[in-house]
Amino acid sequence: TTRKHGTRVVVIGLGRFGGALARELVTHGSEVLAIDSNPHIVQQYSDLLTHVAVADTTDMTALEQLGVPDFPHAVVSIGSNMEASILTTSLLADCRIPKIWAKATSRQHGQILERVGAHHVVLPEHDMGERVAHLVTGRMIDYIEFDTDYAMAKTTAPRSAVGATLTGSGLRKHFDITVVAIKHRGGEFTYATPDSVVAEGDQLIVSGRIEEVERFSDLT
Ligand code: ADP
Repeated sequence: TTRKHGTRVVVIGLGRFGGALARELVTHGSEVLAIDSNPHIVQQYSDLLTHVAVADTTDMTALEQLGVPDFPHAVVSIGSNMEASILTTSLLADCRIPKIWAKATSRQHGQILERVGAHHVVLPEHDMGERVAHLVTGRMIDYIEFDTDYAMAKTTAPRSAVGATLTGSGLRKHFDITVVAIKHRGGEFTYATPDSVVAEGDQLIVSGRIEEVERFSDLT
């Protein structure tokens, strides 16, 4: 989007996560400086990204030489080398980079990253594991959690709701969830209204507290 155009981001660690992230940022118009200590990996990205560099980011001099302290955003996507991940994050915090994101491989790793100065921590494998757990067992097709208690899910409509309007089926009353959007077979998602009628095979996007969204999605 044009809105993000001109944003400057330094991405450290070009593994699967960092590589995909750097490419997506470039696609959306950000200026990306990508750094990895492995010259082979940097070589692979040299055509795809505007600025790439080989450097050990646990070395403050290397960071300064690359102009890293002047960037408004940084993402540390070093996963398996925990020591390098923590050291790099703390050096970026010393540089007073305003927005530091860091990838963690466990909750404990994430807590340490926050302690040393990461503003946002992501746990991609852990979070995806939780999400897929919701998808394999019930009617959920997609699922996302916000904070510790709220969620949104895409589900197929339960049989009990078919044929009634959203008000008539009493989903809000019985399940304490809100139907946000509804999609008829072969159609597109549109905002749900109290008069929306649920048909067999419809998909619903619902929001509410995690327990309620789970309870609703376990319904047949
Ligand atoms: P993923 O799981 O996303 O593939 P990895 O942990 O395997 O993540 O990859 C992290 C990347 O970070 C690797 O390409 C590695 O070369 C790089 N890396 C590791 N340590 C450093 C460091 N000290 N400085 C810069 N890059 C590093």
